[in-house]
Amino acid sequence: MGQAIARAARQEIRFAVLVVDLDRFKAINDSLGHIAGDELLQEVARRLSGLLRKDDTLARLGGDEFVLLIHEVANSQDAEVVARKVLSQVALPIQLAGLDVHVSPSIGISLCPDDGVDSETLLQHADAAMYHAKKKGRNTFQFFAPAMNAFARERLELESGLRTGLAQREFELHYQPKVDVATGRIESAEALVRWRHPKRGLIPPGGFIPLAEETGLIVPLGEWVLYEACRQAREWQDEGLQLRMAVNLSARQFRQDGLIETVRGALSAAQLEPRYLELELTETAVMQDAETSVQIMRRLSDLGVRISVDDFGTGYSSLSYLRRLPLDKLKIDRSFIREIVTSRDDAEIVRAIVSLAHSLHLKVIAEGVESAEQLTFLRSLGCDQYQGYLCSPPLPPVEFLTLLPHHRPIDESKRVPPSLEDTMISRVLRKV
Ligand code: C2E
Ligand code: MG
Ligand code: MG
Repeated sequence: MGQAIARAARQEIRFAVLVVDLDRFKAINDSLGHIAGDELLQEVARRLSGLLRKDDTLARLGGDEFVLLIHEVANSQDAEVVARKVLSQVALPIQLAGLDVHVSPSIGISLCPDDGVDSETLLQHADAAMYHAKKKGRNTFQFFAPAMNAFARERLELESGLRTGLAQREFELHYQPKVDVATGRIESAEALVRWRHPKRGLIPPGGFIPLAEETGLIVPLGEWVLYEACRQAREWQDEGLQLRMAVNLSARQFRQDGLIETVRGALSAAQLEPRYLELELTETAVMQDAETSVQIMRRLSDLGVRISVDDFGTGYSSLSYLRRLPLDKLKIDRSFIREIVTSRDDAEIVRAIVSLAHSLHLKVIAEGVESAEQLTFLRSLGCDQYQGYLCSPPLPPVEFLTLLPHHRPIDESKRVPPSLEDTMISRVLRKV
């Protein structure tokens, strides 16, 4: 690279750095064994060297990452031609252990001198571009853009912020009510985490949960959420509010060793009866490796906690697994609720999910309900519960409490008589 940089400077020409990373190499290595993995790398190396001109350079940096130096490119189109050749060559099936194996590469490209004039910068920029190619959906290439640098720096900052934020208790839980459609009563609360960032203010989970998942920080963060939500549920129960508490578990938490012990620990620290805890798992998390999910969920269910499937309808459910899983509830994703009143298709999908849930003896809840029309329609379908801005957005705990006495059922004729619970609620409210 040093020579290429010097030559590019002397002759005022460009060269391109292509970082080529194989998608899902680890899966192939794990399933077919290391010998097959080595053969695959050798075959990819042969194909890549077949594409090069005499002057070009090919190297393997390690693992499944290769680097190509393409000399004397006039512009980015020249580099793009090579990238497309790499994509099509690597995509051809490879014979391994008697099988036709398919791999695809993700490619990041930087140009010298445009994107850097030293090897470290050029490689780092090509690497950042490769990361974006992976994000874009793999089997593709990306040129480096300065914004990617800012993006990479931001990620690093966010990651270290997450670590210190955990230690310094910058996270808090907000609660959103789940309401019984027939009676209008608030039956439970969903705990939704927020990050009170010292500089950026309140960050919603979409801004840090994906990174927490990628880095594994979701495990300690999720543990804190579980402990805090159980503690809050217990505190409300001590004040006379028999609310169930729902907590979201990410895919990674769900598959983490020690999940059962963590859940048991959170319940016992709070002295909360297991039936008051509900765990929300996304459909995608449950259905990826459904056989293992059955085992984990049976153990959770043996503890006595309830389990529901979040964002239902956005993934691919196997109906035979759905029947075998110890589930309590399906939660219809809000993308189907949004246009339920105006879109016939969405209305029919929701109708089908409600009847599917009921025939499996499951409860069904709609999320993202914002209007009275949506609620009326859901009621006509026999949907059991709803959640959404129509009742309330997620709120800090003290504000959540104020919902309880003021909350009136939408349908007054089905209003349940005030119970002992209601009087206790007023007592709690006088206290706060
Ligand atoms: P989710 O579990 O599907 O949560 C529902 C999301 O919908 C919440 O967003 C909520 O604020 C929003 N929402 C509620 N009602 C309405 C409505 O009427 N209209 C619209 N447009 N949106 C509504 P939020 O709080 O930003 O959470 C987003 C996602 O982050 C959650 O989706 C959940 O997947 C994840 N998440 C939140 N807290 C945790 C946590 O403690 N652990 C894990 N693993 N994930 C969490
Ligand atoms: Mg949820
Ligand atoms: Mg959801």
